[in-house]
Amino acid sequence: GAFHRPQAVTVLGATGSIGASTLDVITRHPGRYRVYALTAHHSRERLAQLCLAHRPARAVLAAEDDATWLRARLGEAGLATEVHWGEASLIEVAQSSEVDVVMAAIVGAAGLLPTLAAVRAGKRVLLANKEALVMSGALFMEAVERHRAILMPIDSEHNAIYQCLPAEHRGGLARIGVTQLLLTASGGPFLGWHRSHLAAVTPDQACAHPNWAMGRKISVDSATLMNKGLELIEACWLFDARPDQVQVVVHPQSVIHSMVAYGDGSVIAQLGNPDMRTPIAYGLAWPERIEAGVEALDLFQVARLDFQAADEEAFPCLRLAREAMAAGGTAPAVLNAANEVAVGAFLAGRLTFTGIAEVVEQVLDACPRQVAEELEVILEEDRRARCRAERSLERYR
Ligand code: NAD
Ligand code: MG
Repeated sequence: GAFHRPQAVTVLGATGSIGASTLDVITRHPGRYRVYALTAHHSRERLAQLCLAHRPARAVLAAEDDATWLRARLGEAGLATEVHWGEASLIEVAQSSEVDVVMAAIVGAAGLLPTLAAVRAGKRVLLANKEALVMSGALFMEAVERHRAILMPIDSEHNAIYQCLPAEHRGGLARIGVTQLLLTASGGPFLGWHRSHLAAVTPDQACAHPNWAMGRKISVDSATLMNKGLELIEACWLFDARPDQVQVVVHPQSVIHSMVAYGDGSVIAQLGNPDMRTPIAYGLAWPERIEAGVEALDLFQVARLDFQAADEEAFPCLRLAREAMAAGGTAPAVLNAANEVAVGAFLAGRLTFTGIAEVVEQVLDACPRQVAEELEVILEEDRRARCRAERSLERYR
């Protein structure tokens, strides 16, 4: 490539599943990328290992005592990495003038402010943290425009759609002849299950995804289909689509990562082995292509591709997300916040699997939708929805 110096990359959420895949791709191209900052929540041991391997200029943890520990640990090893803690430091390593690329791979609402800071600083932003966009859609996309950030979708479905669209696709789907976005879904580990059998499933069952190894929160979201609901909202914002222009297609093999249907009858699909290094490499190098470490797709081994409709009776979260997007305003932020609380409770053994959708629906009904033009309003509604969800949970004790 035509790079005079390696691009400086901040990885927010470096100790997670997307963080690991990102560092794997970066390591394959040392002349092209270097790690500027790595961040984690509490996993200081893992962050120490990553710092030793990638020698970033800065590292950030959530708590002061973890940062003190890491500073001592890296000091002993003779590393010059500066160690910081807290949200202001996350924001700082996302917007620093020394950074070119920010991988937004924190899970949940906690990623919103640092991701938005990267956008407002005009970075190339690799968006894995879909919750940030779901919460703040209009405001987020406006900031991308205003600050000329390069927003690259990393969610495999949205990355696939991006690859199936013409290079210049802003200004609405009709303008480019697109009739529908076909968002594929694996169906999760409970595909084909009846609702009556879902009440008793355990967190470990829910996290055993058939095709992808991911963090626990997104794994539960995949099992409830809330992940597909969040992705439907994400697609509406990224590609300027209405909810009725996004069709969910259950495709259990996860080989087609999504498709775009055009008015002339063409359907364009992106295929590949289910490995997040493909969308990450695409997001890093676009408009170029780089090697990602992903095995070539063997279609004879895949042999067949199946498709079916989603079962919204058994998995009501998909309907709830579509309704929240149609309602607009702060409704998607409320949906997201309630879901985060409910999933946390399910993982902690305090709520049944089917209780997740029930809590989300109760919170959506209880929190009237507000206009979502200001960040303060969105954050306040996020807080309110979390309190309301905690109250709903008390009924399940
Ligand atoms: P993960 O749980 O494996 O990793 C999350 C990372 O965020 C960790 O580094 C953790 O330390 C950090 N983190 C968690 N809470 C934090 C907080 N409060 N403050 C600061 N940092 C915090 O999750 P993941 O599977 O890597 O997913 C990350 C994001 O990418 C999610 O939004 C998920 O929906 C999205 N995503 C993941 C995949 C995948 O294959 N894993 C695919 C598509 C999208
Ligand atoms: Mg996805």
